Parts: sequence; C-alpha cells; structure tokens
Amino acid sequence: MRKDDGPQADGEEPTEPEICDLCGAVIPADSIDWSALVPDSSAIHTVESNFDGRRMLVACSQEHLEELIEQYKHRPFVDAELWAGKIARVLRRQRPRPDHRAGERSTVRDGCGSACQGRA
Ligand SMILES: [Zn+2]
Repeated sequence: MRKDDGPQADGEEPTEPEICDLCGAVIPADSIDWSALVPDSSAIHTVESNFDGRRMLVACSQEHLEELIEQYKHRPFVDAELWAGKIARVLRRQRPRPDHRAGERSTVRDGCGSACQGRA
C-alpha cells in the first residue's frame, strides 16, 4: 500500500472507494496502487480547466492498468471534443432561471413579437 501522496497524507478523512475502470472491482481508498493519467479529449474537469484533456485511470491490478492505458493509446485526441466539453461546462455554470425565461417566451411569441401579430 502506498500512502505517500493524496489527501490521506495530511491525515484527512479517507475518501470513498474507487472502482477499477476495466472490470469494475471495488478498490478500497487506502489501497489504490494502480493509477495513471492519460490524454483524453473527452475528459473535462468539473471546475478546473488545467485538468481538462487528461483522465485519471484507476485499476485493481497492474494487468488491468496496462490494458486500460493500451485502450487509451488507440483513442484519438480530438481538439473539437475538448473544446465542446469546455463550452458545455461554461453553459452549465450559467444556470438560467426557468421562471424568468418562461415569462419572456409568453410576451415574445417564438421570437417574432408584435410585428408577426400585426400580420396575422
Ligand atoms: Zn480490474
């Protein structure tokens, strides 16, 4: 078991157990020995853009970690996918107020407003 890095080194509360990304086996949080960071254009961090494009893989064994790394070697890194994820994160942060938008819809009918109503 390795405890030289991560939050537990500071004596914080143990984190939740991880799951092997290949077979789904539950790995206790204090015994994660097989992990790797791989390039992945679909990996978008929740808040920190510095971590975008990199995926943390966790495996239950060296064999499973090597197989996962091999799989990601063949996955193309698509810049457009990375940027789409970044844009989606920004849009998620700007939560619209549903009641406000509904009010706008009723006064401006599908975007054409009074000009369309006069013609109809
Ligand atoms: Zn596994």
